[in-house]
Order: sequence, then C-alpha cells, then structure tokens
Amino acid sequence: MGIQVQSVFGRKIKGLALALMAMGLSACGQSNSDAKEASAEADKGEVVVFSARKQHLIEPLFNEFTKETGIKVNFITDSPQPLLARIGASQDRVEADVFMAVDAGSLWSASNQALLEPANSEILNSRVPTEFQEPNGMWYGLSKRARTIVYSTERVKPESLSSYEQLADAEWKGRLCLRTSQKVYNQSLVGMLIEEYGEPKVKEILEGWVDNLAAPVFSSDTLLIQAIASGMCDVGIVNTYYLGQELAKNADLPVKIHWANQESNGVHVNISGAGIVKNAPHRDNAVKLLEFLVSDTAQKQFAGSNYEYPVVENIPVDPVVAKWGEFKGDKTPIAYAGENQAKAIMLMDQVGYQ
Ligand code: FE
Repeated sequence: MGIQVQSVFGRKIKGLALALMAMGLSACGQSNSDAKEASAEADKGEVVVFSARKQHLIEPLFNEFTKETGIKVNFITDSPQPLLARIGASQDRVEADVFMAVDAGSLWSASNQALLEPANSEILNSRVPTEFQEPNGMWYGLSKRARTIVYSTERVKPESLSSYEQLADAEWKGRLCLRTSQKVYNQSLVGMLIEEYGEPKVKEILEGWVDNLAAPVFSSDTLLIQAIASGMCDVGIVNTYYLGQELAKNADLPVKIHWANQESNGVHVNISGAGIVKNAPHRDNAVKLLEFLVSDTAQKQFAGSNYEYPVVENIPVDPVVAKWGEFKGDKTPIAYAGENQAKAIMLMDQVGYQ
C-alpha cells in the first residue's frame, strides 16, 4: 500500500515541476497572458485546509506533504462551528478544499449541512476501517481517540471499575468528575451509548452520573485529570491523550486508565478526521493530502505527536500509549455519534447535566 501512495506522489511531483517552471517564467517578466497562464498553473500546486485540529499538530505533516508533492498547504485553524459557517457562507465561491475536525460529531455535522462531497478514493476506502468512515465517503478518520475511564491510583481499586454505566451506581456518589456536556466529545459518547442502550436507559445512566458528581463539571479533560490527582474526585471520563500529555509533565501522576466496557461493546473510540469540501477548487490535491495522511509514515506522526491512536491498522503507537495496553474498541459506526447528537444533548439537558 505504501508503494501505491508513493506512485501517486511521483506523478504529482511532475505537475509541481511544471507549476514551478511557470512561476519562474512569470517572475522573469513575461507578457500578461503568460502571467495569467502561470498563475493558473501555480494554482494547481495548492490545497486549502480549514482545520479544527491545532496548528502544532498538523503543520509538520503539511510541510512533509509539501516536501513530497510540491503542493503548498494553506490552512486556518478555528473551532468547528465558525469554520463550517464560513464554508456554508461561501458556497458560490468556495475557499476551502478540506475540512478537518477532532470529533466525528463535527464531521457528521459538516456532511449533514451538505458542505462535503465524497472523496471517491480507493486508498482512503481501504486504509481507513469502515466504522471510522462516513458510508458515502464524505469524511474519514485520521486518528483514533479513546474516551474512557480514569481513576485515582490512591483511592480506587481497579477491580471496582467496569463500565461507563457503572459510574452511575451509588458507590461513586460524590466521587465522579465529568467534563461539561457542552463539549462535543461528551455529546458523541452519549450519542454512542444511545445507539447501544436506547434513550430510556441512557437517561438513567446520565441521572446517576449527575447524582454522583463530586464537583461542578469541568471545562477541560486536563482540569479533570488534575482534579483526580489532587483528590477532588476519584474517577472521571477523558480522552486518553490528555493523560498522555499530563504524564509527559509528571510521570508519577497518581492517575491511571481503565478500559471501559470490555465485557460489552468496548471503549468509545472517536476520531479526528477530514472530508473534501463540496465544490472544492483544488479537489485533486485535497484527495492527495488525505491519502498522504493515511500513509504509514504520516499515520505514525499524526497520531503519535498527540498520544492518539493511528486509524490505520498495524501502525506502532507512541511508547507512552503502548504502556496502556491493548483494549477492545467499540465497532459501532462512529457516524451514529452525529446522528444521535441532538438526542444526546436533549437527554443531558433533561437530567441537568450542565
Ligand atoms: Fe481534545
């Protein structure tokens, strides 16, 4: 598969050489029509990315892509909503080629608003596991993000933990901490629980969680982990890479991971991912960028730089991540996180989960 990816880029390099030649000519003072032709040629050498994934996590890979293909990556980063609003507002004069997000809920929302188009890429279809791609190829996962239980190694016996729903039991009263329900990560988790258990049972689980809270909800997973370390709470639910980041600062942090729901559906695994913007002006380059991001080398870096999991199978993980061991992940298509998002938000609101 690696060879296939390289051959695609080999062809692109030829295109780029032409583009560079054209730019060189225009710089040497050619006529107007030559200059116009040259800029059209140069345009073939770019791709525009609107990214909700942070700059420091994507820029090194974009530079790598440019080095391999000569295609320049222009990007802006922001929260998903303003990015999608800008894409939606510019439908008659589309600026973006790729929309990149850090949660399936945001990707689903982009395709649900008809802002994306199918990538039609054999490489993406075959490299990205089915449960992490939109059925029509509207978006694809690029890294996996496990959202699971973390606990205090000082106050919790790991045997006492089992599942997300068990955190609703009375034994966790005054011991549970949660991040705000406003965060799409929790909306996606609850959306997937609804898919598995149905709304009535999930409502009970959410009521139990709210009953058990040790403190008001947190604005970030990092603050939640620190609250467990400092003794404010005993258990919580976070994306594992946030623990990776905290462990990088303090390897002795008394907080550990429990892989949730191993006896049932498995851990909730969300994605960061991307899709091709509808009527993208540089569609071919956009597809090439996504294909590059699922190549073996890019996968290792894309996931590894943030303690996430590669979405492509059999790519080694960061050593810190490897220490957490293997786990069973939920195989339910992650698109349900988006499809059930409205129900999830409604249920969380009904039980007073803020
Ligand atoms: Fe995050």
